[in-house]
Amino acid sequence: AREQVHNFAAGPSPLPTPVLEKAAVGLLNYNGTGMGVCELSHRSKEFKGIIEGAEANLRKLYGVPDNYSILFAQGGGTTQFASVMLNILAARRIQHKDDKEYAVPTIDYVVTGSWSSKAYAEAQRLALPPAPGAQPFAAPRIAATAKPSKFTTLPKQDEYDFSADAAYVYYCENETINGTEFPAADAPSEFSFPFDKVPAGVPVVADYSSSFVSRPIANFDKHAIIVAGAQKNLGPSGVTVVIVRNDLLVDTTEAMKLGNIPAVPIQSEYKTLADNGSLYNTPPTFPIYVSALVLEYLVAERDGMKGIEATNRAKAETLYAALDAAEAKGTVRCVVREKLARSWMNITFEIVGEGKEKAFLDGAEALGFRQLKGHRSVGGIRASLYNAVTLESVKALAEYISNF
Ligand code: PMP
Repeated sequence: AREQVHNFAAGPSPLPTPVLEKAAVGLLNYNGTGMGVCELSHRSKEFKGIIEGAEANLRKLYGVPDNYSILFAQGGGTTQFASVMLNILAARRIQHKDDKEYAVPTIDYVVTGSWSSKAYAEAQRLALPPAPGAQPFAAPRIAATAKPSKFTTLPKQDEYDFSADAAYVYYCENETINGTEFPAADAPSEFSFPFDKVPAGVPVVADYSSSFVSRPIANFDKHAIIVAGAQKNLGPSGVTVVIVRNDLLVDTTEAMKLGNIPAVPIQSEYKTLADNGSLYNTPPTFPIYVSALVLEYLVAERDGMKGIEATNRAKAETLYAALDAAEAKGTVRCVVREKLARSWMNITFEIVGEGKEKAFLDGAEALGFRQLKGHRSVGGIRASLYNAVTLESVKALAEYISNF
């Protein structure tokens, strides 16, 4: 039964049981309409209520300022690697429409793990010249990286090298696979993202997929775009939240006519999504419905963002304390060596000794701990402590680690 397992999946990941119970009812009969939520038109007043409720609760949780739009997009976090680039290059092209020659802009990537590496690779691909010998659309570069450490720490603030007039700066707040995360808003350190070093006017883009609604966002209003796939803290896979500053809602067709930018599919144009309340085409109605229920639950039952943060901090501290003690005994090794760069959401560690990892996982399975295997690209163990994972589950895992 559900109550007998502790699910530490990295995504898709556990959702609050009361939310799933409510969703199960709505799947069959939404609000007494006699129709399931997946059987309702996305243009119905019922669905309009669902998507508007989701937006309102998200605005409330984060205190999203009025000059930002909230979009519900498709294609996962991966599609946003392209969309952020395409929309910002289009906005920049329009800003420079009277320039006799449009200079190829740099784009500054902060590469701290697997996901920011993939975002950087996508930007390099889309920046390729439209024909051999032509000029590229952009010049993505690395402004800071943690690669020499194999992504087991974050760059320190003095290691960033931003260009003067980049199209944008990109970073990933929480690296789901590697287990690093920028420090919490109320605990800045040498590993914090150095917003004050970003040249004035350069938009900052952040991938918050695996730390969305887990705690307040540090320097929210210094971001131009925040993107997050739903399938960790927010809901099922299939919907991606984009919080975008309104000056980046531009007519990409106009920009394409000016030239020097890659083609922008209409589904990637933020202005189109914003103008149509995220209903330009058929949206993923069920994932949006479940996400709306999660947001309602977070606002009503979890005492908002501060309450969520307090629980998540306690969970992370509990597990890291057990891991540090076990490391001192020689049974485990934490992957992320710098404590201040450690993720609250994805906790990565290795079991020391030949054959011991299998013994650890087999023993864990027998006790009801699920989905603890590390990502296939890095191996080891990963415990993901998203919002729906309780402190009790984390304490149980901590005890297992201590006794192992
Ligand atoms: N960014 C981060 C931080 C992620 O964790 C993931 C997926 N786990 C992605 C991007 C890619 O998201 P998707 O699989 O929805 O394309």
